[in-house]
This record gives sequence, structure tokens and C-alpha cells, in this order.
Amino acid sequence: MTNSPLAGSPFVARQSKDLLIEQVPLSTLTTTYGTPLFVYSKAAMLSALAAYQRGFAGRNARICYAMKANSSLAVLQVFAQAGCGFDIVSGGELARVIAAGGDPGKVIFSGVGKTRAEMQQALRAGIACFNVESEAELEVLSEVAHALEMRAPVSIRVNPNVDAKTHPYISTGLKDNKFGVAHERALQTYQRAAQLHGLEVVGIDCHIGSQITDVSPYLDAMDRVLDLVDAIERSGITLKHIDFGGGLGIDYNMPVDNELPPSADDLWRALLAKLDARGYGQRQLMIEPGRSLVGNAGVCLTTVEYLKPGELKNFCIVDAAMNDVPRPAMYEAFHQITPLALRDTESVVYDVVGPVCESGDWLGRDRSLAVEAGDVLAILSTGAYCMAMASNYNTRGRAAEVLVDGNKWHLIRRRETAQDLMACESLIPNTP
Ligand SMILES: *Cc1c(COP(=O)(O)O)cnc(C)c1O
Repeated sequence: MTNSPLAGSPFVARQSKDLLIEQVPLSTLTTTYGTPLFVYSKAAMLSALAAYQRGFAGRNARICYAMKANSSLAVLQVFAQAGCGFDIVSGGELARVIAAGGDPGKVIFSGVGKTRAEMQQALRAGIACFNVESEAELEVLSEVAHALEMRAPVSIRVNPNVDAKTHPYISTGLKDNKFGVAHERALQTYQRAAQLHGLEVVGIDCHIGSQITDVSPYLDAMDRVLDLVDAIERSGITLKHIDFGGGLGIDYNMPVDNELPPSADDLWRALLAKLDARGYGQRQLMIEPGRSLVGNAGVCLTTVEYLKPGELKNFCIVDAAMNDVPRPAMYEAFHQITPLALRDTESVVYDVVGPVCESGDWLGRDRSLAVEAGDVLAILSTGAYCMAMASNYNTRGRAAEVLVDGNKWHLIRRRETAQDLMACESLIPNTP
């Protein structure tokens, strides 16, 4: 019997032979929609957001959901209705914000490789701010805005050169990362921005990485950024807002290295104390959380296809794969995996793997499970960076998604068909 506590969200609970999200039994959803299936809790998302809102009570702050974590339209709709802005990284994401009923006036645009077409699209939509990541981008943005007879609101992403102590693929605040402008060049870059006719300097921003489980890198980054704010403002440039990025980790309930991230309100209590001490407590603040708003609000349900015992390893082959839940293959990430219905039989240690033709296609290693073919497993904490990174590799249609709200649910994305996957393709003329 597996009886370890469930990772993450208090909105996922075990009840007799099933798991519930809010009040909806997950077996009802798999019977209706099949597997693999992502299921999200609206209450879990709003509760994660509420932790930030509590942290910022009485402050002039805007929360811009970093939508690359999960950009499904209904998820965006939930955050838009709750008053959030959005941090986008492409023109496609801007189109999604608008389709979901979000306010482009609350959008900030990050990313190192914005194209001219994306800049035009965002200027015309009237976004709040471009987070500019290089000196070359500043020049191009000014040119593009000038040609439209507009001024682009900009903030420069500075690289505070602090170690977020996270996985190298998700650490972004060190000197050798492709992101942001080096701390030493930031003042010069601001002075250049202030001279460019197509730009209006409005803020400063940083983002040091993702899945951060400790307050100290944030405090260090804040000090470094505020040092720059002092210097930039002394040189005569006013900054209306300070954006501290995203990156707060979630509890994936790893068995070994169980480092618990601080809650959003605890983190911001510490950060606001520093901000107040340095005299910036009344400045407009922005943050760009992604994972911490959605990660623990979602599960991926998958059916056991085959059990394959081996000499060295036993494999539990399921119908979800690296194309659905890419984090293990990409970062060796850990997700807790638990059957919906617990069996009283002996557990066996399995590697849980998908059907994709890659040895990297695994979802969990060395998991003790009492399962049989046909059982449904829940892969927990898969609300962030799973569906949004899903691919069609092996011509696998992407999973369906359901959003649970109390005792009701909504299918928010139907399962992709083979027809969907071929829709953009065409054959060449047959040669005789
Ligand atoms: C990815 C990203 C975020 C969100 O990061 P999380 O770790 O999901 O909170 C915020 N800002 C920028 C610029 C990003 O690239």
C-alpha cells in the first residue's frame, strides 16, 4: 500500500478508492474523458494567488502571471478575472491573453528575442511594458515604436548575478546566462534608453531563476537591484515601477531533498521589510510568478498499459509520456506518482515510463507501487510547465484538460486527434 502524503495542494485529497480534486472524483473524469488527462483545481490557483495578494496587502503592487507556465485559455481566464496581469514571452502569448479576455494594458513582455513583428503587435495592443533584455533590442524597439509614432514603455531586465541555487537549466540570474543586461552595464544602458525617442523608461526588472526554495537569493537580488535604482535615479532617470520577477518554487514532495519553499506571503514579508528599510516601500511593485500559481493546482492522470518485470528493473508502462509531462526527461524533475485506487497487494518497485521511443521517456524512477494493468495513476504537481511544454512527438495528440470548480467541472481542451496533428501539412505532387 502506498500511503505517503500527497504532494502540494490541499485541494487534492484521497477518499476511499479514489482521489478527489475539490469535490470531483478523478475516476469520474477519466471514465468520461479518458487518459492521459490533465485536471486543474480553480480553487488551488486562486488560493496560490491569494497568498501573494495577502503578502501585498496595502501596497501598490501588480501580479503578472507568467503564462508560459500554463497558457491554456481557461487558466488565463481565471487569472484575468481575478485581476491579474500577464507576463508574456511571445506574440502568440499576447493573442492568448486577448482571446481569454485579459487586459493588454496589464501585460508585460519579457524574452531575449522579440521580433519586430511582435513589437508592433504589442505596441498596437497597448501593453504596459517591454522588459528589454539587451542593448541591441533597445535600439530596435525604439525604431519600431518611432515608425508607429508611438513611445514604447520600457523596463530593462538587469542581471543581478546572484546564484538562485536551482537547476542550471532554470537558473537565469548568473553572468553566463543569456538573460538580461549585466549589472555593470545597466546604468549605461538606462542612459542610452533615456536618449532614444521611441522609448519611455518606466521601470526596472529582474528574474533570477525558477523553482527557488530559499529567501536569500531573492534578498540578495533585491539589494543589487535597489543599488542600481539608486544609481539610475541619481543620474536623473525616474523609475515608476520595480519588477522582481517570478521564480518561487513549489513543494514537489521529493523524498530525499525535501527543501520546502517559503510561502508567497512569508517571502514577501521578508522582501517588503527590506524594501521599506531602503525607502522603496511605496514604489509600484510588479512580480511575475508562474509555477507557484499553477504547479500544485494540476494533476496528470494516466492509465497503466503494461507491467514489464525485468532482471535489473521493472517497468510500469503508462499511456502518458515525455511529450505530455516533459519535466522528468528535461530536468530529471521529480513528480509524485500515486494510484487513484489503493490496492492491498504487495508493492513492487518500478520505473514508470511512457510509450515514446526514447530511453529518456520516463516519468518516475524507482517508485514503489501496487498496481495492475488498467489502473489509473495520478502524476502530481503537473499544473506548471507540463501541458505548456507538451509536444506531438511520435505523432501523439496532446492530452485533454479539465478545470474543476467545486463540484462542477469543465472540459477546457479536447484531446487532439491525428487529423488535428496533420492539419497544417500538405503532400507534394506525385511524380509519374
Ligand atoms: C519563466 C519566467 C517567469 C516565471 O517563473 P516561475 O519560476 O514559473 O515563477 C517570470 N519572469 C520571467 C521573465 C520568466 O522568464
